[in-house]
Order: sequence, then C-alpha cells, then structure tokens
Amino acid sequence: MTKVRFAPSPTGKLHVGNVRTAIFNYLFARKAGGTFLLRIDDTDTGRSTKAYEDGIREDLTWLGIVWDETFRQSERFDRYGEAAEALKAKGLLYPCYETGEELERKRRLQMANGRPPVYDRAALALSGEDKARLEAEGRKPHWRFKLSGDPVEWDDMVRGHVSIETSSLSDPILIREDGSYLYTLPSVVDDIDAAITHIIRGEDHTTNSGAQIEIFEALGGSAPVFGHQALLVGADGGKLSKRMGSLGIQELRDEEGLEPMAIMSLLAKIGTSDPVDAFADVDGLLDGFDLGKLSRSPARFDPEELKRVNAKLLHAMPYAQVQPRVAAMGADGGEAFWNAVRPNLERLSDVKAWAALVEGPVTPVIEEPDYAAAAAEHLPAGALTETSWSEWTEALKAATGRKGKQLFMPLRLMITGEARGPEMAVLLPLIGREKVLKRLKGETA
Ligand code: GLU
Repeated sequence: MTKVRFAPSPTGKLHVGNVRTAIFNYLFARKAGGTFLLRIDDTDTGRSTKAYEDGIREDLTWLGIVWDETFRQSERFDRYGEAAEALKAKGLLYPCYETGEELERKRRLQMANGRPPVYDRAALALSGEDKARLEAEGRKPHWRFKLSGDPVEWDDMVRGHVSIETSSLSDPILIREDGSYLYTLPSVVDDIDAAITHIIRGEDHTTNSGAQIEIFEALGGSAPVFGHQALLVGADGGKLSKRMGSLGIQELRDEEGLEPMAIMSLLAKIGTSDPVDAFADVDGLLDGFDLGKLSRSPARFDPEELKRVNAKLLHAMPYAQVQPRVAAMGADGGEAFWNAVRPNLERLSDVKAWAALVEGPVTPVIEEPDYAAAAAEHLPAGALTETSWSEWTEALKAATGRKGKQLFMPLRLMITGEARGPEMAVLLPLIGREKVLKRLKGETA
C-alpha cells in the first residue's frame, strides 16, 4: 500500500517552493490509490506556532490537497526518546561536549589546512572519566549519529542512481544540548511507524537522505523509496524573486486573487517534460503524472505564466462552478453575462468591473453627438434581446454608411465608457433599453 507524507515545519507559511512538494506527494498518492499523510514537523517548539500550522492546513485545503491522516511530531517525543535509546545501546548515538565556538574553531583550522570541515569524532575518544569531568564543569552533551563511512546508494525516482559518501559527512547531530530533537531522527522514526513507502521532497535533502537511510537501517527498518525534486528558481534562472515567487499561498489567494487550480496546474507541470496547461481539477493533473518526467535541473517559476494559466482557467470556467463566488462578490449577472465577460478576465475579481458596467452608473464617452442621436433613433423598438445588437448595427450601417470600427467603436464607448470589453450583443440586453438610451444622451446612468 503506497503511503507518502508532506512534512512542513510550522515555522513559516507555505509558498510556491514548498507547496510543490505537497503537490507531488498528493498526486503520487492519488495516482497510486494510496494514502497521503500530513505531518506537522514541530519539534522546534521555539519557532513553531499554531498560527502557521493552521495556515498550512487552510492553504492545502484551499488548493484541494486533502490529507487522509495527520499528526504532529510534538505528540511523539516518547517515541523519539525510545529510538534514541536504541541507537545509544548500539553505540550509534554518542555524546559530544564541544561548544559551538569550539566546533567553529575546528572547522576553520581544517579549512585553513585544506581539509574538508568534517567533524573529527574527538568525542568518541572520551573516557567515562572525561565525560564525568566535563559534566561536572556544567557541560551538557549534544548527540551525534555515527555514520558508517561507507557510501550509501539508492535509485532515486527523480535523480536516478545516487551515491552519498558518508565518509565525507560530519556525523549528524540528532539531539541538541537542551535535549531537543533536530529534524533528522524524528522524521525517520515517524516514517517507520507510519509505514511510509515513498519520500518525495526537495533535493536540498539529498545529503540528509544518505544519513537517514543509515538511521532507518540502524532502527531495524528499511528505507522507503526516495524522490528528490529539483528546486524552483525564478524566471531568469536566479533565486525566486520577492514579487510572487516567494509569496505565500495565502497572498496568492487573498491579495492576487488567483485560482487554486492555476497554482496547482503550473507547479505540477513546470520542470517536467509535459507542457504547462490550465487544468480544471486535480483529476486532470493525474492523467500524465509521473515523477520520472521531472527534470533534474531547477524548474523556472514565472509569475507571468501563473497569470496566464489563471486567465485560461477562468476563460473556460462554467457558470455553475463560479456562481457562488461571483454572487458573493455582488457580480452575478447570470449565465449569459458570465459567458460574455469571462474571456476578459485575468482574475475572478475583474468580473466586478464588468458587472458595474452593466449596473451603472457609467459615464459615457460621446465624441460625435450626431452619431449618438442617430444611434438612439435606430435602436430597435421594445425590450432589447440577443439579436438587438445585430439589428441595430445593420440599421445604423444603412442609415449612416459607416462600417467596421467606425460603426462599432463609438457605440461601445458611448454605452460602456470603455474601448474594450465583453461582447456588446450580450451586454446590450443586460444593460437594458432605458440605460442605453440615457447613456446615448450623455447621461451618467
Ligand atoms: N520538515 C522537513 C522540511 O520541511 C521535512 C523534510 C522531509 O520531507 O523529510 O524540510
């Protein structure tokens, strides 16, 4: 049974970079008919907050990412304690007493001598007496996991064959001096206990995976299958820009007013061999989903492309789906109105301006009063309907000899006050005879 997890730390907001990991995990689980676990990595109790956790859940829900199970790491300290004891009993977790400053000095010395700054394992040589003396001095140990020194290899779902030389790594610190856990051990314990089958995460974790695979094995588990996706970069290949790129999902929703499926569509497809398109729902994304299609080089995130996908989604969005939202904006003009205005939308809130144009008041732009008078005179009698526009413009053409832009553009300007906009044929009956006539007279209506 496939089981994956998304494991954010509630020390910040979800943004396009880290939510992409959630998307890949979710699609992977859905595709396999498996389970998606949301794990809150809150072992850093100093920096984790309930507000960030709530925000993460809210953002995922808005995106349509539904978790089957969820828990917090802070509920499981007992289990991490047991695992730490098991590693100590095997001699794989050892106490170290160096202060941060001492470690820093060692590192500088190593680098000055042209050696890699790898922890020298001096603590392994401490006798029982040494440790007792250090503790009597008031020092408290931090604990390191003893790496094997052998290469760790795996077949990565994204990167292919990966080999990590553990001999070139420092033994990772699993427990800090104050007894708190770094992310490395709890994550492995949880992955074992939750029977995670695949770990999909950013390639900044690749080296961690080397160490964690050894911890899985030391704890009697076997490591899941890994997939490390390349990270996002900006449109120019540089760091993600502040404008939108590093913006939180919450801002994209609340301030930019973007559609969740626009974000899902773009993030699921950039950096893959599939073309980017606007997918109306998650099912559409599942079709061709395959982590093997991910490129090993960084994916470029372009906010302009996100806007284009957003617009494309809106242009195809059915009225029934959008009705409650436009109604909430006070811009529900019915299905014909929606179909007429949607090709003009970049974001949903643009609909308000078009609704206001129908409702009024609109200040007409009248450049040729004679033409306005002729237009009023030839407006088809009775209530305006969908055919009124063509009848009207035919009549005006015959009466004035105008055609094309000269015929149509002044009408649009006089009736809507705008040079561009939704189809006049649809707008006309919605605006209604009375307001059309007032606007043709130059009245604000
Ligand atoms: N909390 C870790 C992070 O946000 C989880 C990494 C993982 O998926 O194992 O980086």
